[in-house]
Amino acid sequence: MNTVFNSGTTVEFHKLSEQYIQLTPRKKQQFRKAVQQASIDWKSFPIVKGRSLSLSPLSHAQERLWFLWNLMPDDAGYNITGAVRLKGDLDIAALRQALSGLVQRHEVLRTTFDQDAEGPFQTIHDEPVYGWREVDLAICDESVEDLLAEGARSPFDLRHGPVFRTLLIRVSEQEHILQFGMHHIASDGWSMGILVRDFCEFYAAAVDGRDPDLAPLTIQYADYALWQREWLDDAALEGQLAYWQDRLGGEQPVTTLPLDRPRRAPRNRRGGSVGVHVSSETVEGLRRLSRKHGATLFMTLLAAFDLLLYRYGGDEDIRIGVPVAGRNRVETEGLVGFFVNTLVLKADVTGTMPVGALIDQVRDRLLEAQTHQDLPFERLVAALQPVRDQSISPLFQIMFSYQPTLQRKQSSMSLVNLDMLQMQNNSGDAQFDLNINIAEENQETKIEFQFALDLFDPQTIERLSRHYVEVLEQLASGDVDSQRLADIDLTSDVPVHMPVVYPFEAVTSRIAAQAAAHSDATAVTCEGAALTYGDLDAWSSQVGRRLLALGVVPDERVGLCVERSTGLIAGLLGILRAGGGYVPLDPAYPRERLADMIADSGMRRVVVDDATADSLGDLLEGLEIVRLSEVAGEDATPLVTPVHPDQLAYVIYTSGSTGRPKGVGITHQNLAEHITDVSNRFEICSADRILQFSTVNFDAAVEDIFGSLTNGAVLVVPTPRETGFAELTQRLADSDITISYLPAAFLRSWIDNLDRPLSYLRLLMTGGEALEGCLCQTVNHKTYLSETVFENTYGPTETTVTALTHPTTDADKEAAVVPIGKPFPGRSVYLLDQTGATVPCGGVGELCIGGVTLARGYLGQAGLTAERFVPDPAIPGGRLYRTGDLCRQRVEGTVEFLGRLDQQIKLRGF
Ligand code: AMP
Ligand code: MG
Repeated sequence: MNTVFNSGTTVEFHKLSEQYIQLTPRKKQQFRKAVQQASIDWKSFPIVKGRSLSLSPLSHAQERLWFLWNLMPDDAGYNITGAVRLKGDLDIAALRQALSGLVQRHEVLRTTFDQDAEGPFQTIHDEPVYGWREVDLAICDESVEDLLAEGARSPFDLRHGPVFRTLLIRVSEQEHILQFGMHHIASDGWSMGILVRDFCEFYAAAVDGRDPDLAPLTIQYADYALWQREWLDDAALEGQLAYWQDRLGGEQPVTTLPLDRPRRAPRNRRGGSVGVHVSSETVEGLRRLSRKHGATLFMTLLAAFDLLLYRYGGDEDIRIGVPVAGRNRVETEGLVGFFVNTLVLKADVTGTMPVGALIDQVRDRLLEAQTHQDLPFERLVAALQPVRDQSISPLFQIMFSYQPTLQRKQSSMSLVNLDMLQMQNNSGDAQFDLNINIAEENQETKIEFQFALDLFDPQTIERLSRHYVEVLEQLASGDVDSQRLADIDLTSDVPVHMPVVYPFEAVTSRIAAQAAAHSDATAVTCEGAALTYGDLDAWSSQVGRRLLALGVVPDERVGLCVERSTGLIAGLLGILRAGGGYVPLDPAYPRERLADMIADSGMRRVVVDDATADSLGDLLEGLEIVRLSEVAGEDATPLVTPVHPDQLAYVIYTSGSTGRPKGVGITHQNLAEHITDVSNRFEICSADRILQFSTVNFDAAVEDIFGSLTNGAVLVVPTPRETGFAELTQRLADSDITISYLPAAFLRSWIDNLDRPLSYLRLLMTGGEALEGCLCQTVNHKTYLSETVFENTYGPTETTVTALTHPTTDADKEAAVVPIGKPFPGRSVYLLDQTGATVPCGGVGELCIGGVTLARGYLGQAGLTAERFVPDPAIPGGRLYRTGDLCRQRVEGTVEFLGRLDQQIKLRGF
């Protein structure tokens, strides 16, 4: 045998194949072994007819569909449908004859499937049976669209057949629509073209009364299936499998777009579709670019899509499924059947990679992949992903395919006396997260994005499609080879928001103005105690004068170590009135934390009350002490000291996510700007009663204190005892609180214990960490809170308390994580990738915040300050704070919080 092999010609291989097919299974195996030992390429053996009909296995791909059909016999996800519009006189008898001829010609169309102890098998029937339905629109209530959709969606019975069916809709005497439907087990996209071409010839022949002019088929699909099972079950595929294992590695990451909704198992296959056109100039430019790289247009299109996915999600390992026709042998060219195979193409990208390098990489990998395309996808899945997850498609989630004009031509033949138009139409079901089809049609390039409606909103995919065209246009229009992936501009629809800068008026002057206007109005209450605006003005002026007498200078850090009380507010204001910046030292904090803050801030003076002077005396040793109870001798007339906008207002220590606490220095302009934003947004007025739940060491208290006092409202300070669940509820009810901020961690437990209406509470705010939709649900379900607006607020200390806020809606109850909303007018937001490039709208990036509320920086840490506060690309001299939070922006500008950058959570695909 060796000699024959070595001098093998096509004719000899063909002869050998014909002999081989007659052998017993054992002999066949010996033969294949010999072939392998002689290092003969098994692909040299053509597929021949000759199988005994009793022995008809399924191809690998068919077997998978048979398995899936048994699981879900009503699923229309594997229906393949196409329709043609027939204009002119239709000869129904000739049509029926043509359809019979078609089914006679292609065995696979008259095949049924079943299984026994040995496994699945197929039975080919002699009778050319196919499904036939005729509808006359004149006597039918349904629309053409509905009829076609119904035809596309009704399930097939693979066990009893038929796997091929037709629907003829009579629109009028001169117009009919013929729909072809096949189960994927008997067909694929390429088959549809062959089917329509063959049908046209059968019809023309029937009308003319002649034999159809079609070359006889040398083999049928079942011959191919047998050949595949025998040859591809052997070591022949080991090399191919090894290639894929090596290329794809042991872990199979998920590549998709940021989802609008989390996945659910089992998958619902409802699909939507969005189409866009690409101009011929763009395609011409892409062809030029492709030629320069020795690449095909397809390769460049795929590279452009990899680029876009990278820009959307920042993933550096991108997997995309690409179909290959699987008809790389002459014998299979004219056959109807399931030949298509799927290759998984991996791209390795970074933001700094040049575009040209990506095209080269895609070219090389695609060529490599094509030489390893025989391994059935099903076998690859079995080898790489033994654990099946019902909620996600295995190995890849996005399919990318391209049909050049050539293949379409086959199906655009004309019928005798009939003007035939192809109509697109499929079951509308989504097999993948996203399926991109690029087709060339009459000089035009059309891209269709089919997507899973369960995962994406149509607007998301519409935006993606526009971004893809933008990428293509930029690639087509010039010299992009050396541009980095991050340089491709995708900002056309990113909302540009210039932060508003309000005229500066220090919070101290605003509070003084309230005192001058309504000195008898209540300013602060704490348990039984209360201060009017006049009292507060006097006391804080006395504290201020004492501090000035001690020599406090503008910008000096002054400690504030006072129990929750009315005096706490007087002391805080007193420090500001003296021109100092307050550093809160909550006496309830651990002593080491307090000691750290005292040391790090470099403070020399501290305001205390009698209790803290006693309990923390040793800790405060070495500092000059101002006792709140001992300033009564000072002048109580309003103390007015001019304040510079850049002067320090307070320092708050934040632990951030890592490292030791760092002092964030906030200026008077930061504070004034934020308080104006908050006052406007929440329409705070003198009728409001605002609860200061948070400790002064946390900047949420800043909003409560200054939000109320600058607006003439009442600030209610609960005592430490009043921050328990029941006590807090009591306080809220007794004080008729209208506005309260409760951190999410507290809110979660408190809400379950809420046992009475809070009729005055008009605004409940929360924040501090990701807010889950079900908490929203709970808050809304509490009838006690049915009239209350519930806002999710977000803000790093570095950008002054709250930067974005979101009034929760009914839709949020379903969300895994509630959005953080939109920035206050005084802020701008950007989503940037690792290279600092703006991510496209809808993409995932680090949330960066600009505007005049940005802190000066970290106390005594210039390096860290420079790292976190970077130049604002849009405003000369402006800065941005990099929050370290991963977010994305919805179409209307609402920002969604996805997680911390440093926690490296797996975002995509959730
Ligand atoms: P802080 O500086 O202590 O106010 O912490 C700010 C950080 O808390 C932010 O960078 C976020 O990581 C997180 N955070 C605050 N509010 C929210 C929110 N509403 N949703 C999600 N994360 C939040
Ligand atoms: Mg905050």
